[in-house]
Amino acid sequence: MADALASQFAHHPHPAPTSAALRDAAIADPGFGKVFSDHMVSIEYDADKGGWHSPQVGPRTPIMLDPAASVLHYSQEIFEGMKAYKQADDTLALFRPTANAARFNASATRMAMPHLPEDMFVEAVRQLVHIDRDWFPTVEGGSLYLRPFMFATEAFLGVRPATQYKFLVIASPAGNYFKSGAPAVSIWISDYSRAAPGGTGAAKTGGNYAASLVPTAEAFAKGHDQVLFLDAVEHKWVEELGGMNLFFVFDDGTMITPPLTGTILPGITRDSLLHLAREEGLTVREEPYSIDQWRSDAASGRLVETMACGTAAVVTAVGHVAGPDGDFTIGSGGPGQLTMKLREQLVGIQRGAIPDTHGWVMNLG
Ligand SMILES: *Cc1c(COP(=O)(O)O)cnc(C)c1O
Repeated sequence: MADALASQFAHHPHPAPTSAALRDAAIADPGFGKVFSDHMVSIEYDADKGGWHSPQVGPRTPIMLDPAASVLHYSQEIFEGMKAYKQADDTLALFRPTANAARFNASATRMAMPHLPEDMFVEAVRQLVHIDRDWFPTVEGGSLYLRPFMFATEAFLGVRPATQYKFLVIASPAGNYFKSGAPAVSIWISDYSRAAPGGTGAAKTGGNYAASLVPTAEAFAKGHDQVLFLDAVEHKWVEELGGMNLFFVFDDGTMITPPLTGTILPGITRDSLLHLAREEGLTVREEPYSIDQWRSDAASGRLVETMACGTAAVVTAVGHVAGPDGDFTIGSGGPGQLTMKLREQLVGIQRGAIPDTHGWVMNLG
């Protein structure tokens, strides 16, 4: 069945791929999101032509778009972020790709976009990893970051969901997300809001990121690594960072993460850590946590660690928190024990060094 799906993709390998010498130089220390592989996968959608059609693997080239394409005006766009990891035997594997496929369709629902069958999503990613596997970075701890995305291509300025879309997958060899491989990050509490109740906060859509750019620039200008958003209504409850979920670890072996109430992105790393922490014997609660409580728990020492998590940066300690009402430090300001342990476990599972007891790893050969 997987082969029948694979055979639907037309193959047009790049006629003039990057030379091995240039590629090797590019993948030695690629950083994050700057280097791209030679190919992309594309699938077209047209409501008048029976939906999805013309899946293909071809050269990564600029896209022709009509100037009236509705994505350029009304931002109908969604994306995913996932990685291929190298295993000890040099095979490549995806981590929970069907969770990305399911979340992609959940985002599509919120943005009035068509669903892409989950097996088609996963097959598209597989095909790209297969053709561009030589782009896997050689830097220690590297991975091949994969970016599936979909946007409205219909030329139409009226306001309604488009009838034509393009789905693409591109690949980017990746080293460390944070420039210095930051042992612990410093975050800035923003006055701006990222997502309101009833809004698009739970969808992985470009608009949420567009809204986060001014607060993120503000955080950078003040010398911090990331921006923290509080809830939009009371400006009291901790929600998440610009692109990472948060966990709070207490001295009695309990852990809290904000609940998925529609304003937070349901991270797959977040969900994986919930499982791993419970298996470690921790009591993990999905429950609101206020900024004032966080500050006072950090001061009293009841709070021992705070971790931020997401596919790009995996699990990272939050060391310092700053905002209009002053600063505070968590623990010693460096990564705590549980942060290190959970990070090691997750990375170990992703790279095949620790047995996958959850059925999370999909080996691609
Ligand atoms: C993608 C994303 C995350 C992390 O999700 P993962 O599936 O763990 O990578 C967290 N917050 C936001 C806003 C995101 O876009």
